[in-house]
Order: sequence, then C-alpha cells, then structure tokens
Amino acid sequence: MFCEIAAGQAPASLVLDRGEILAFMDIHPWRPGHLLVVPRRHAVRVGDLTGEVAAALWSVGIELAAALRASNLGCDDVHLLVNDGPAAAQTVPHVHLHVVPRARGDLWRLGARLAQQPVRRLFGAVARDILDGHAEQIRAAL
Ligand SMILES: [Zn+2]
Repeated sequence: MFCEIAAGQAPASLVLDRGEILAFMDIHPWRPGHLLVVPRRHAVRVGDLTGEVAAALWSVGIELAAALRASNLGCDDVHLLVNDGPAAAQTVPHVHLHVVPRARGDLWRLGARLAQQPVRRLFGAVARDILDGHAEQIRAAL
C-alpha cells in the first residue's frame, strides 16, 4: 500500500517528499491533521531500516510536529507513534510513524473517533479534498 504511494501508483495527500522519506495524510485520521511518515524503500519493522533512514524518519516526524503546532489545525501537542509489528497493532506492513495532533481537552473527541474506526473502515475514508486541504495547511506551516 505505502510502496504504491511511494511509486506514485496510489493516491495520497502528500505533505513532503525528501527522497528517502515521504509524509502524507492518514486516510483514517484519529484527529484532523493525522500524518504518516514512511521510508520510500519497503521495510516492515523499524529494525529493518538503516540507522540513517531511521534517523531521517524521526527527524521528519519532529519537523512535522512543529508544523502541526504552527498550523491552523488546532494542535497543542503531538503523538509520535510507531506500531512495530502486527502484535503491536501494525495494520500496514510497511514502517510508518504516526504524527497525530492533539488539542487540550480533545480526549472525548479522540475517543469518539477511535470508537468509529470499524464503521469508517466499512463506509470509507475521509474525502480526498479534505485531506488535501489539511496537507496544504501543514505544508504552509513547514
Ligand atoms: Zn511497502
């Protein structure tokens, strides 16, 4: 799935392309502005990455966290999270760093969003134009 995005064969709301590292909007966001940072080259677990690529992945995640805070998306703080392997809830077998914006007092809204996950997976993802709009706002804050 992420290899297809990296190859330009699947749609994505791209935020940045640093050669070895790409960042785009999660199509099933936990919160508006939820980003995924991925290595272009396929790897399943973070331990499969070279140290250089792992460092670049983390560095882009930190940069995007700052952009989220500076954006208009209402972000006070950020989760930087990797589910490393299927027993740790990794659903796409290609390394991805979640960068999830949080706002003070949003716990109820986040909980409601996560509770809807199975329903949203049945009825589809967030519309592409909305994701493209969020990507544009984050890019503007980079
Ligand atoms: Zn892949």
